[in-house]
Amino acid sequence: MPSDLNRDEWVAALPRAFVAGFVKTDKELQERAQTSGTTVTFVIIEGWVISVASVGDSRCILEPAEGGVYYLSADHRLEINEEERLRITASGGEVGRLNTGGGAEIGPLRCWPGGLCLSRSIGDMDVGEFIVPVPYVKQMKLSSAGGRLIISSDGVWDALSAETALDCCRGMAPDAAAAQIVKDAVGHKGLRDDTTCIVIDILPHDKLPVPLPQPKKQGKGVLFKSMFRKKPCDSSSNVEKEYIEPDMVEELFEEGSASLSERLDSKYPLCNMFKLFMCAVCQVEIKPGEGISIHSGSSNPGKLRPWDGPFLCSSCQEKRDAMEGKRPSGRRCDSDSD
Ligand SMILES: [Zn+2]
Repeated sequence: MPSDLNRDEWVAALPRAFVAGFVKTDKELQERAQTSGTTVTFVIIEGWVISVASVGDSRCILEPAEGGVYYLSADHRLEINEEERLRITASGGEVGRLNTGGGAEIGPLRCWPGGLCLSRSIGDMDVGEFIVPVPYVKQMKLSSAGGRLIISSDGVWDALSAETALDCCRGMAPDAAAAQIVKDAVGHKGLRDDTTCIVIDILPHDKLPVPLPQPKKQGKGVLFKSMFRKKPCDSSSNVEKEYIEPDMVEELFEEGSASLSERLDSKYPLCNMFKLFMCAVCQVEIKPGEGISIHSGSSNPGKLRPWDGPFLCSSCQEKRDAMEGKRPSGRRCDSDSD
């Protein structure tokens, strides 16, 4: 956590930081000419707030203690995501199935060149650059009753529904639960893909596995909650307020656009996170006048002026243009890995 931000500000800054970090990582892999990429499901738990950034088809699901299932990641499979198919064809890619030669088409929808069946990933260099690393981001706040997170790769979700995965390990400790989910997933017949699983329990204070000696206080979880909610200081009725304040699962943030100018827009709080003379993606210093506004070249600039920040360095501007199909891209190298 940067020293100049408090916890609320940090949590609010995470969605933009995720976008910058994912794109920066993808660029760095590109420079190292790594050809084989990966899906990413990146989770930060801060108190009761869960922040998830994802590209690809690994998934993170949440079951709050109150019940129900929340999907905290997007599924960037071309087969099921029409919006992403349209984005890719608009950026110069082709979407179609594998052609066996005899005219028959088989398998899931793929993106050409490259043949990837995902529309977003990190580090896939042998595909068109419209396969972008810009993550879907979702932030949820749990109630102080807590909940369970399951983070798994596609091999699990090809075999199990979210409900089945949650049910098959109910009541188990997280490590045993993860093992059970993998066991159930590989027990199914058919093709197996990567099958990895992480289970995380976010527990209320009175259910921690090793009870910590704590002075008895009224209003469990209030300490954590107060980190994320600014309450008016009214000492006269504090106890009552804590009692009646809704303590429930809340969706704080959701955004999945692939457009950098939308995702790094200065309308978000904390403009100071992206300083005037610093690239909004890779954070290198930009000399005055050399930064390129993230809104430059926008087909629908609206009220935005091209000299409005945040700014990109020339290398990140090139990356943005490639991602949006504005410069010839094609295959970035001649590998035939998938
Ligand atoms: Zn940059």
